[in-house]
Amino acid sequence: MATLYYEKDTDPSLIQGRKVAILGYGSQGHAHALNLSESGVDVRVGLREGSASAKKAAEAGLKVMSPADAAADAEVIMVLVPDTEQKKVYDESIAPSLKDGDMLMFAHGFNIRFEQIVPPAGVDVTMVAPKGPGHLVRRTYTEGGGVPSLVAVHQDATGNSHAIALSYAHAIGATRAGVLDTTFTEETETDLFGEQVVLCGGVTALVNAGFETLVDAGYQPESAYFECLHELKLIVDLMYEQGIAGMRYSISDTAEYGDLTRGPRVINDSVKAEMRKILGEIQDGTFAQEWIAENRNGRPEYERLQAEGKAQEIEVVGAELRDMMPFISAGKQKVEDISGG
Ligand code: NAD
Ligand code: MG
Repeated sequence: MATLYYEKDTDPSLIQGRKVAILGYGSQGHAHALNLSESGVDVRVGLREGSASAKKAAEAGLKVMSPADAAADAEVIMVLVPDTEQKKVYDESIAPSLKDGDMLMFAHGFNIRFEQIVPPAGVDVTMVAPKGPGHLVRRTYTEGGGVPSLVAVHQDATGNSHAIALSYAHAIGATRAGVLDTTFTEETETDLFGEQVVLCGGVTALVNAGFETLVDAGYQPESAYFECLHELKLIVDLMYEQGIAGMRYSISDTAEYGDLTRGPRVINDSVKAEMRKILGEIQDGTFAQEWIAENRNGRPEYERLQAEGKAQEIEVVGAELRDMMPFISAGKQKVEDISGG
């Protein structure tokens, strides 16, 4: 088993003794800033002039400054602006005041792994990456819990960077749930693979393909929606709580026999071969280069595909059906929280 760190393994005074800048006040930023502050850490939030979040952060009692002033004023700088903005924020607002012995921190390894940001050798570079959305990092902390997190050291100039990063993880509540060592490479590559192949890309493509197959065969779109999208949550909840065998225990024998015999025909060797190809594109930087170029061009392909997705029949039918199930609207609120801003 891998090593997990809990509260007893950390020294809270390490981060309490340092000035911390949180750049960005979105999903992760607001949670880190508020949790750190309530854990007795000296926090300043770095936000752009006119940022809508500045008022919220100030109202929460936090010090708010420009990103450059916050970074200059701090010894630990956590970068929680969108991954696609981080290079610009680093070049303009962080690099000019970065001193030897400072610590630069991230919640995702993309820009370090793909060398968009290359900090000087005298600076500690670490990651504390919560394995959950920011609103949960905040809510679980206020309830006395925490979200499990990954910790990684890319550059250890001071010799103390792992202990300081753990102390930071403790202050956001993560050591209440468990903190696992990883590397920037492992976190970045597994995160991209998971979201592309299973969690986001894989699941949405599977749901869409099932829905379209039923509708094309003449079944009602409403039936296809309930069957291929709505019920997915019930199955995923069972897997989350009890694993795959536990889920299979709860479904009917007929469902389980169909699962065992038909599932591997859908997700077959050719699908796995494509998964390996996608993993290769992540590992060799092809995906990163493509996404960086797409951003540089103003995201035309991203916006075209996004619009195409929104216009699909499953979305139109689904919106109508969800309106008739008001108890699901609690989930709508969560989507807004997750997207932050
Ligand atoms: P977000 O989009 O919710 O918030 C970004 C914040 O940065 C906003 O306050 C925005 O106003 C500010 N911002 C945007 N551009 C800026 C600029 N140029 N200068 C200064 N401020 C700017 O972002 P997020 O989802 O919290 O992601 C932050 C980091 O956390 C990313 O590295 C992401 O990969 C990582 N992460 C996110 C989650 C999640 O659940 N959202 C989970 C784990 C890790
Ligand atoms: Mg992720």
